Amino acid sequence: MVKDQSIVAIATPNGAGAIGVIRISGADAFDILHKLFTPVNKNFTKEKIKGYELKFGLIRDGDEIVDEVLVAYFKGPKSFTGENVVEISCHGSSYILKRVLNLCLKHGARMAQQGEFTMQAYLNKKLDLSQAEAVADLISAGNKAAHELAMKQMKGSISMEIGGLREELIKLASLMELELDFSEEDVEFADRTQLRELASTIIAKCTELLSSFDLGNAIKEGIPVAIVGAPNAGKSTLLNALLKENRAIVSDIEGTTRDSIEEALNIGGIGFRIIDTAGIRETQDSIENLGIERTFEKISEAQIVLWLIDASNLPTPNTFAELQQKLRSRLNQKQSLIYLLNKVDSSNFSAPSYIPEHLQISAKNSSGLEKLEAAMTAHVDNMGYDSNATLISSARHQDALYRTKESLEQLLSAMDLDIPSDLLAQDLRQAIYYLGEITGQISSDEILGSIFSKFCIGK
Ligand code: GDP
Repeated sequence: MVKDQSIVAIATPNGAGAIGVIRISGADAFDILHKLFTPVNKNFTKEKIKGYELKFGLIRDGDEIVDEVLVAYFKGPKSFTGENVVEISCHGSSYILKRVLNLCLKHGARMAQQGEFTMQAYLNKKLDLSQAEAVADLISAGNKAAHELAMKQMKGSISMEIGGLREELIKLASLMELELDFSEEDVEFADRTQLRELASTIIAKCTELLSSFDLGNAIKEGIPVAIVGAPNAGKSTLLNALLKENRAIVSDIEGTTRDSIEEALNIGGIGFRIIDTAGIRETQDSIENLGIERTFEKISEAQIVLWLIDASNLPTPNTFAELQQKLRSRLNQKQSLIYLLNKVDSSNFSAPSYIPEHLQISAKNSSGLEKLEAAMTAHVDNMGYDSNATLISSARHQDALYRTKESLEQLLSAMDLDIPSDLLAQDLRQAIYYLGEITGQISSDEILGSIFSKFCIGK
């Protein structure tokens, strides 16, 4: 990557639109622009740009006029990337956009790589790493809850939670490093009680943030829901009925837990994704049993399991009890099992006493679905969803927090055993390193590469 060359990309999505935006960022962004752009105000020159300006004019390719455009100037460092930035708002035809892009390339810009604008912002300290990652989440957020989560993270909620603690840890670590220089003299500059307290505080903070991962990740990716039930119970009909009202925008940004395409729903501002499952029933057929086994695996990934029971073709109490036992044995406390008695519109409908508390629905007529949706959103509330709390939603952060916690736990047990300072210092250094990985004070090129490659070009 050549650092000093300005980068350019189309910032708006593919396809025709009213407006399409091309963005250039870099020290010579204004020079490049003025090789292709003529402001209508003849008195305006690039030397006169103060901070933010908006100018109307023409994009020319030699004598040919390519488009009439509006250009926004942002003089670095007061710009998104911290560099000089221009945004050219063209008419949104992909032909025009490509021509303008090519003109920028011809006049000295180079094509931006994925996420490179945000990477520049990070390198120029306009954002820390967790905030930069939140930009990608913000762009892909398809519902209110995911949007709120990304917005909070972009404002720096995670950095605020851990940045200060890391600073304190660094102070104590440097005192401990000092002790190592005086190792002959058996002195203690780093107050051990203070160190213990700080380590315990950070461990508690890590535990709290780690416990928020399930919810944070579920909000970002969509709460996984499995619909299970016997063949013909009405699973597809129910899925379609739910989709009709709530079809969600599905993002193609790589996720941490999603490994297959699933149907995405947006209910009450919260994203859900329905995991496909094969039917379940008691059977002796070994191939069918294999499919059923896979269904049970899917069930263990779900936060909510909707068990659809066909009211017009009820299972016997024994069959029901056996399946119920099987299902329950796969579910943990955090998962919700919702019993749904479907086809209540059928003439031979009955609600037997052996089916526990349940909702009665008709997937075919879309009746009873409000209650089901309410039960699904209630599950999210029970998970402790609070739009004010700091949640982590990235597997990378989860890993770094886990390792921080581990290093500090090691530190505490080493202190209990009166292990020499040089070994304690090592645990401390590790904890500082892992905390720094989240905000980006410590970041290898490999980590940066993998984070920014998840962005689209132009961001
Ligand atoms: P799946 O095998 O569980 O996916 O079941 P389907 O969704 O394919 O439904 C099987 C049959 O049940 C279809 O003929 C549906 O029209 C019918 N069905 C589904 N839901 C209802 C319902 O609420 N009432 C009635 N009467 N029929 C339903």
